[in-house]
Amino acid sequence: MEKLMITIAPTGSIPTKKNNPHVPISPDEIIQTGILCEKAGASIIHIHARNPVDETPSTDFQIFKEIYQGLKQETNLILQISTGGRAGMEYEKRSERLSLKPEMASLTTGSVNFPSSVYANSPDLICALAKDMKTYGIKPEIEVFDTSMIQNALDLEGQDIMNQPLHFDFVMGLKGAIPATIENLVHLKNSIPIGSTWTVAGIGANQLPMSAHAINMGGHVRVGLEDCIYFSKGKLASNEQLVKRIVQVSDIMGRQIATPDEARQILGL
Ligand code: ZN
Repeated sequence: MEKLMITIAPTGSIPTKKNNPHVPISPDEIIQTGILCEKAGASIIHIHARNPVDETPSTDFQIFKEIYQGLKQETNLILQISTGGRAGMEYEKRSERLSLKPEMASLTTGSVNFPSSVYANSPDLICALAKDMKTYGIKPEIEVFDTSMIQNALDLEGQDIMNQPLHFDFVMGLKGAIPATIENLVHLKNSIPIGSTWTVAGIGANQLPMSAHAINMGGHVRVGLEDCIYFSKGKLASNEQLVKRIVQVSDIMGRQIATPDEARQILGL
């Protein structure tokens, strides 16, 4: 089986230091987390920015730039910048950071309810972000919160706005989105074109079991405090610990871990 790519999503938009003191907030903390997670076995890092003062999600280009440049200098990780909209929904703000030309960026190809808000991604906005990624030579990670988002991505591919092979991240178990079950995972996997790569991001307590399914099924894994702040019931995690655990599980299951350069080959970067 193909070597396993581990994506670390260390920060996200929601958890704060009050929830878990290990959540990296400042650019320097995010860079240091990247260094530790690369050593532990991660090959990709999914990047969000925060306002260092109040820890809220940020769209500030300078913060993204500082994180991007630091990680590029200090690690060999594949840098994947989030274009997620929780920090601000306007296209201009979500697109500006793509001018840093990271190797990858996340793109959610549809709208979904989050537990207490609507995550709105209109067809025009999705198309505009996908075009920007194509212009800059950035590989999208297609964030799939529901099955319709796969079809939306295939439509973009059919219009030559995205190139094969596609890479998907199945976000499973978030309240409002697709439930984290094996049946749903099998269906998602069977709905993407042959030759695509895929990762699973299990939310909350779904993180470990969904990771194990992905390792078994030939997919790849995303872990990190963005998706789950606990290591086990009641015990807070660190990002590095979560990566190390996946390396252990994968080792027990007989699957090797991809280095960042091997991940580049798998993704066709
Ligand atoms: Zn994210």
